[in-house]
Amino acid sequence: MKVPFADFKKHYKQYQAEIDQAVSRVLNSGYFILGPELEKFEKEFAEFIGEGFVVGCASGTEAIYLALAACPVGSGDEVIVVAHTAVPTINAISMTGATPVFVDVDPQTYVMDVTKVESLITPKTKAIIPVHLYGQMVNMEPLLQLAAKYKLFVIEDVAQATGATYKGLAAGSIGDFGTFSFYPSKNIGAFGDGGAVFTKNKEHFDKLLMLRNYGQSKRYYHDIIGINSRLDEMQAAILSCRMQYLKVWNKRRREIASLYTKELASLIDVLQVPAIHADNEHVFHLYVIQVEERDHLQTYLMEQGVQTLIHYPIPAHLQKAYAYLGYEDGSLPVSEHIAARILSLPIYPELRDEQVKRVIDAVKAFLKNRKTKLCQLPVVQHSQTPVPAI
Ligand SMILES: *Cc1c(COP(=O)(O)O)cnc(C)c1O
Repeated sequence: MKVPFADFKKHYKQYQAEIDQAVSRVLNSGYFILGPELEKFEKEFAEFIGEGFVVGCASGTEAIYLALAACPVGSGDEVIVVAHTAVPTINAISMTGATPVFVDVDPQTYVMDVTKVESLITPKTKAIIPVHLYGQMVNMEPLLQLAAKYKLFVIEDVAQATGATYKGLAAGSIGDFGTFSFYPSKNIGAFGDGGAVFTKNKEHFDKLLMLRNYGQSKRYYHDIIGINSRLDEMQAAILSCRMQYLKVWNKRRREIASLYTKELASLIDVLQVPAIHADNEHVFHLYVIQVEERDHLQTYLMEQGVQTLIHYPIPAHLQKAYAYLGYEDGSLPVSEHIAARILSLPIYPELRDEQVKRVIDAVKAFLKNRKTKLCQLPVVQHSQTPVPAI
């Protein structure tokens, strides 16, 4: 039995009739950019996130860029962000001309360690980007208090956490902006690229509409300098079909996560399962474990037909593209420690229980013969108490 990391073909087959119908509707309408499908999807998505406005755009990367540009954040400004994220989060900051300033992550939940943010704030700091990594949100309350104290914008990177909540509030609805990605593998994916920005502020909304469309207020009138970043009609129509399944899919992701955790949590000396903060509902974009012999485990699983990935092996501050910032090995000890040990097991709605069991058995078989203890970092005490994922 093979367990691929994702299975988009199978996914398409399952929803083929309605997807084909949506695509055909758009093709026959002759309307491909900024039309009724996008307007419909933006309304539906806004209703899902909270009281506010949604602006569709071309990708999750550009969603972050557009939010930063709307603040505005630009050359000479600093943006506080984690290095343990998908590098596009950082690329979006660079696109504005601003400088990323890296903060370390929490060793248990892998998201921004909010206790380390304040010491990094300077007069140049303009914004903070909490990245809700793997499907779990950052501890937002203390972060919002800091943002209010220093008058900073908060842009939530929700690319991996659409549908997640913190104290009952939807990811993306808490900061000044929430940015989303509809990359095919995300919790709600398009059949191509796509993204969106959520904001509660009408002025920011109006500015985002211009920024994504060449800076136009109306045709041929360019009030500001913009770009071309739009969610096309085809992807919007497809995403509208998919909205109705998001909750069901996230529920299935959580079910799979609890199957993994139930079987793997007892291997406490050699393997770390994901931890969930008590205030959070995790939507498990990824199920990430830690083991000491990560590369060997990955090779072994591959031989067993189980495909895994690493999110992410090299933190942003150690990437060649960001060498100019001058960070050295050891500057973000938690990010670097986990980057060497993390492994993402397959998790997606179509994954069957037998396949999950296959992965669990293979992981257990590997660890039975290798007793290398997991080198764990000291647990930090926070206002939130992390509990094992169930
Ligand atoms: C996927 C992702 C992005 C980028 O989204 P794209 O749609 O691929 O541009 C940004 N941040 C995070 C955390 C992501 O996972």
